[in-house]
Amino acid sequence: MQVLKFGGSSVGTEQSIGNVVSIVTASVKKQTSIVVVSAMRGVTDQLLMLAQTAAQGNEAYKTIIENIEQKHLDIVRVLLPIQQQSATLSMVKQVINELEANCEGLFMLKELTPRMKDKIVCYGEILSSKIIAATFESKGIKQQWVDARELIKTDSNFLNASVEKERTYTNIKNYFTTSAHSFDLYVIPGFISSDKEGNTTTLGRGGSDYTAALFAAALDAAQLEIWTDVSGMMTADPRIVQNAKEIPQISYQEAMELSHFGAKVIYPPTIQPVMQKNIPVLIKNTFEPEHPGTIIQNESPKDDNFIRGISSIQDICLLSLEGSGMIGIPGFSKRLFEALAKKQINIILITQSSSEHSICVGVNMQDAHQAKIAVDAEFEKEINTQKVEPLIVEKEVSILALVGEQMKSHPGVSGKMFGVLGRNGINVRAIAQGSSEKNITAVIATQDVRKAINVLHEAFFETSYKQVNLYIAGVGNVGGKLLEQIKKQASYIQETLRLQINIVGIANSKRQIINQEGINLTNWREQLSEAPLGDINTYVTTIINNNLRNSVFVDVTAHEQVANAYAQLLGKAVSVVACNKIACSSPYENYLKLKSLAREYNASFLFETNVGASLPIIGTLNNLILSGDSINKIQAVLSGTLNFVFNIYDGTVSFAKVVRQAQAEGYTEPDPRMDLGGTDVMRKIMILAREAGNQIEMTDIENEGFLPESCFKGSVEDFYVEMEKQEPHFKKIYEAAASKNCKLKFVANFQHDANGKGIAKVGLQHIEPNSDFYHLYGKDNLVLFYSNRYPELPLVVKGAGAGADVTASGVFADIIRAARV
Ligand code: ADP
Ligand code: ASP
Ligand code: MG
Repeated sequence: MQVLKFGGSSVGTEQSIGNVVSIVTASVKKQTSIVVVSAMRGVTDQLLMLAQTAAQGNEAYKTIIENIEQKHLDIVRVLLPIQQQSATLSMVKQVINELEANCEGLFMLKELTPRMKDKIVCYGEILSSKIIAATFESKGIKQQWVDARELIKTDSNFLNASVEKERTYTNIKNYFTTSAHSFDLYVIPGFISSDKEGNTTTLGRGGSDYTAALFAAALDAAQLEIWTDVSGMMTADPRIVQNAKEIPQISYQEAMELSHFGAKVIYPPTIQPVMQKNIPVLIKNTFEPEHPGTIIQNESPKDDNFIRGISSIQDICLLSLEGSGMIGIPGFSKRLFEALAKKQINIILITQSSSEHSICVGVNMQDAHQAKIAVDAEFEKEINTQKVEPLIVEKEVSILALVGEQMKSHPGVSGKMFGVLGRNGINVRAIAQGSSEKNITAVIATQDVRKAINVLHEAFFETSYKQVNLYIAGVGNVGGKLLEQIKKQASYIQETLRLQINIVGIANSKRQIINQEGINLTNWREQLSEAPLGDINTYVTTIINNNLRNSVFVDVTAHEQVANAYAQLLGKAVSVVACNKIACSSPYENYLKLKSLAREYNASFLFETNVGASLPIIGTLNNLILSGDSINKIQAVLSGTLNFVFNIYDGTVSFAKVVRQAQAEGYTEPDPRMDLGGTDVMRKIMILAREAGNQIEMTDIENEGFLPESCFKGSVEDFYVEMEKQEPHFKKIYEAAASKNCKLKFVANFQHDANGKGIAKVGLQHIEPNSDFYHLYGKDNLVLFYSNRYPELPLVVKGAGAGADVTASGVFADIIRAARV
């Protein structure tokens, strides 16, 4: 004898019922089979909605009945040959008539009791099981339909009745040992049962699994098969974790824990009856019957997986009873639990602090209100005398559970779990670990659940790769190149670094594409041109609401509003990678705040490209400081633009034309005056000085600029016109240097004065042939670090310091650094 249960999705369509027929046909050939079926997908919800609508006096209930009727009539017409349809069609019509009669009563009375709900909701399983039974008959498979209500006996706790096991087992055994019942196949509606008085009861949502387990246990079946829409129990809910994997083998205990903590694939009470009889349970996929699925049995496989799966229960609330009057006095927890039990409130999790100052329990959200009333009433006297506080109810929290029998022999699992959550900015509200060490549970904000499960799954199951989710702001020269580089390099990075780069957001100043599954980079420009409008605020709100793990915000703009968003992002544990220099050159206090937010929320704040594009300047400086060195002096040529301009300019072509060339080749800021006026270099030397540990502001930096005042007026185009007018001025500067056989370089300098105060200065200098700076060509940058370890001969970093390609590659390197933390 074997028992097969088919869930709602398996009996939802002609195709799925076709699969059911062939699975059952094969089973019947081997042995007597009992088939338990759920209501067609969605019907149970529809029936509950129907009852509620009718009881509200809302005529819309009639449309709901019509929909239910239509759904069942339609399926009968496609499943059965025309000449065999009439009996089943009239069965459906008769059930619908009964439903109608019940609903009319509800509509008049406007009162919906749990008992009435059960009376209505049971029709889902009755209809589906009778339709399936008729389908078998039509295929020539003889079967017997059995009304589960006559065999499964329960108390009268409608909607979630408790089974009287002994009586039920006896009923089932008696039924099947009667010689009158010697069919090869029995079809049974799941979920439904009855109480002593014969009222219909139900076994709780998802209860058809339990019905099947009761039959399997009563009859000592060889096996219980649960046929559903996934290929087994998985390491996490596949709707939450894309990379969830099937678990080939799992113990009863582990399966019970996983389902208790929310793995919906099996209804929690199902395991216990089959475990008692040591009957193996197979979870199989109706849509992929060849897949081996999951076998649930006594032993957990002895493999390297200390964690078997992760699950979660959303919509929980946390109840905390606190007060100094509880310390050392027995009986408080008993009274708390009794008060909840009296109201039939199920406790999902319990924690008590060792100070005994508080007890905390997790219950279903819908029980919150009743729990508060019940507990406050129980402790009224203590509340009045201020021995305990009124019950604290925290809503919108969820339970997260890590399950695995072998974790008890492996220290460090909880350390890893909480480390991972902490690094991702997920706050843990309460923790519980069963003393059997089969699970560790944590209570977190519901909005963090998806992220938490994904990061934990990644940490415990995906040794293959880690996903990093990027939000790009800015798609100009650098942004465009960056996307090109990522597209080209993504698979190499996935292979070598086991990092999967997922671009989830691309935004310019007007529009933004968001796609959590990853944006296709082949035509991102077209997608962006048609994407919804949005500004930086909407972008940041989306990023925060998406709450994706390993999120990195990449600022490749030069906008202040974008830089102003970093604090909000870092505060939500979103890393920031910026080539935009505005944040790091903003007031020192703000720079410091961003750094400390990054530390506090375990996010990265990286801006290597703020100085010298992708040259390892800030990284080198950080490494010196971290290893205990101290910077005494920095000398640098930090403007690729100015270098380019002064390397080319010799008076034969106008200075304005040379600047225009630099802009055309992408070496300047959008407004070239930022470069030529020295502001850009001031920002860079200030950032280096700050990274070397100095408190310094822009106003502390001396700028010996060379642009005439008149150049700073008007637009960028006005600037070019003015430069042409000022050509004699530029020529004079050039000739003054050339006459001494010197080159012109815009040099930045930082050092400490006699009092240890940091002094920074930028300006155009005549560079003699014996200087380090003399042989600096094109758009190259050069930085000399003089430190305690490099007192006379400086540490030198030299190379291309501007250009979209190198800047993009520097940003890319920072992204990888942020992702690998
Ligand atoms: P049925 O209608 O067959 O009873 P359910 O919807 O009750 O099916 O349960 C199957 C669903 O459970 C899957 O589609 C999946 O989305 C969900 N699920 C949640 N957690 C898990 C898990 N750990 N493994 C497999 N499925 C899970
Ligand atoms: N039809 C019921 C429900 O949706 C029982 C089940 O599907 O197992 O909850
Ligand atoms: Mg189910």
